[in-house]
Order: sequence, then C-alpha cells, then structure tokens
Amino acid sequence: METHTKNFTAEEIRSALEQVKDPEIPVLSIVEMGMVSKIDADAEVPVVVLTPTFVGCPALNLIRQSAVEALKERGIHAEVKFDLSDKWTTNRLSPQAKEKLEKFGLAPPPYLSDEELTEEQLNRVRCPHCHSTDTTLRTAFGSTLCRAIRFCFTCRQAFEQFKPVA
Ligand SMILES: [Zn+2]
Repeated sequence: METHTKNFTAEEIRSALEQVKDPEIPVLSIVEMGMVSKIDADAEVPVVVLTPTFVGCPALNLIRQSAVEALKERGIHAEVKFDLSDKWTTNRLSPQAKEKLEKFGLAPPPYLSDEELTEEQLNRVRCPHCHSTDTTLRTAFGSTLCRAIRFCFTCRQAFEQFKPVA
C-alpha cells in the first residue's frame, strides 16, 4: 500500500513562516521582511529559500532553525536554506512592515531608487514620535548593527532607525 504524506501549498508554508520573527526586529516576520524569496511546495521535500538581510548577520542560523521549527509545528517538513548570492534591500519591506516599524518606534528606512543614491534620499527619514522629517543622523550604529540613531529637531528626541540597505 502506498503511503501518502500530505502536500502543503506555498500559501500554507508562507503562513507558517509568518510565525518566524527576525530576532533583531521582533515586530516583523521574515515574510514581512521580504526574506522569503522562493517556496517550492511541489518538490518531494518542500524547499524554502531565504535571502539573508544584513551581511554577516549572526542571526542567520537562528532564523533558519526557527523557520524549520515553525514549519514542523504545522506538520510541514521542509528544507530551509539561504541563498547567499541573492541581495536583500530594505525596499523589500512591505508597506505594512514599514508601518509596524514606525509604531514600534523604529523609523523605517526610506525607499531607495537604484539610479541615484543621494544624501538627500538617505536623509528622508521621518521621526516615529512626531512624524517630522527634520531629522539628522547622529550615530551610524545603534543597539544593533541594523540600526542607526537619529535625532529629531522638532520634538528634540533621539530615535532609532532601521538602516537603509541598497
Ligand atoms: Zn520628532
């Protein structure tokens, strides 16, 4: 007799991955971060391909492990791997992800166009407290490598920013 393992759709796999948070940005899932670049649900063992965010991010192994665990909880046995050749940029953050970041008190990175990466573009950062754009970079490295500290001239408070990655 043939044994059948249940097949899962890419949507079911993606939904399970919504449970996996980025350890550095705990309000966002790896799906909202735009890290899930490919789901092959039709393979004998489903394959999930993730794009690493910040180069050398020490959390990569932890993220992979958490993804495998989250899938297992739903009975999905999948292979989870990183595509180190793929390049993640902060433009992959969904609009909802940026909203969540701002509510969390972390200024979302500005959208960066490929052509001209200007100082002006990089400085278009809105204060998460008062929404003023009259802000300046204070320290390139905040509490983690992914964050910078900026200062708002309007409400005169420092805030953290999710650094833009082009
Ligand atoms: Zn402010």
